[in-house]
Amino acid sequence: MTKQKTPTGRFGELAARHRFALNPHVDYRASRCPGCARPTRRRKFVLSIGVVPGHIVAMGKDCRYCPDCDVIIAHQDELEDLLAKLFADAAPEVVGNDYVVLGLVERRFWRQHLGRPADQSDFRRHVADFRSYETISESPSLPQSRSKTKKGDSHPNS
Ligand SMILES: [Zn+2]
Repeated sequence: MTKQKTPTGRFGELAARHRFALNPHVDYRASRCPGCARPTRRRKFVLSIGVVPGHIVAMGKDCRYCPDCDVIIAHQDELEDLLAKLFADAAPEVVGNDYVVLGLVERRFWRQHLGRPADQSDFRRHVADFRSYETISESPSLPQSRSKTKKGDSHPNS
């Protein structure tokens, strides 16, 4: 099905925020953080997603969030479902194409422009890239995967 790429270069013009992790495992729902094993919270984020060729959308999506690790976890199957719905009418020919999660869209900007395409340079001014981007690898629900992640500078912006 759809291939998922890691973004190269910078898209959003706001300061980068949060870490992003894509979860490709349908049997793993990230109710606990793969990094620190604490319970994650359900939180809605507005993701900016680029779909080949040349479509960029903003999409509200319920994700899992670990405040300790500052990591947002999105399930790949849900993401692709939403993308397919979003493009079903507007551009059905791109459903199943490569896509990339570019960053987070400012909530206020998203609400103002809901359903209306903004021009791309304006859009980028309201997008923050992720500080890092990863794909959850094997068996993250096992307790042994509490490696890495501890970083001194991961205070959420207040
Ligand atoms: Zn964590």
